[in-house]
Amino acid sequence: MSASVPEIHLHRGDLPDGLTFGESVAVDTETMGLLPVRDRLCLVQLSAGDGTAHLVQFEKDQYAAPNLRALLADPAVTKIFQYARFDLAMIRRFLGVDCRPVYCTKVASKLVRTFTDRHGLKDLCHDLLGVEISKQQQTSDWGAPELKPEQLRYAASDVLYLHQLRQKLDALLAREGRAELAAGCFAFLPYRAHLDLLGWSDEAVLSH
Ligand code: MN
Repeated sequence: MSASVPEIHLHRGDLPDGLTFGESVAVDTETMGLLPVRDRLCLVQLSAGDGTAHLVQFEKDQYAAPNLRALLADPAVTKIFQYARFDLAMIRRFLGVDCRPVYCTKVASKLVRTFTDRHGLKDLCHDLLGVEISKQQQTSDWGAPELKPEQLRYAASDVLYLHQLRQKLDALLAREGRAELAAGCFAFLPYRAHLDLLGWSDEAVLSH
């Protein structure tokens, strides 16, 4: 585990031309709140898992972002999230992208770490990587035109470890024979996010 200082690039409105992330990209969003139908998208963070984070900051109603949309819609690039359900709804609503294929570290953790109910990013980083991350800036104002250095560091930390977590979780999924089950759950997540945006909460369409 490298303790080196992460490299953080802040972009306004879209990714620059020609930037690529390889076959999988870690993705997170920061928003004005936790309701995808109410709150607006402020920031999308991305990392190739190489210690570098690219942050795309959005002004209200300025979501054209052709480069970012193309990346998120690229079927050859797996998008790794922690709690994909929320981010996928935000991405669908504001960027108009049906984002897939998807990997969710929280879903993977729930499928293999059945001995605990600690599946938050902070818990996964601690338990699986021995890395301590701070969640202190989680509730700060992400709509501010100038984000503070501590907000940028926090936003970056939400994507910097997802590749390493995926590697650890994939090993556990293989060990427990649940990789196929996980793949099925991941494939459903874009539909789950769409249902959220249309007003079907939780198990509404699956329950008796
Ligand atoms: Mn975040």
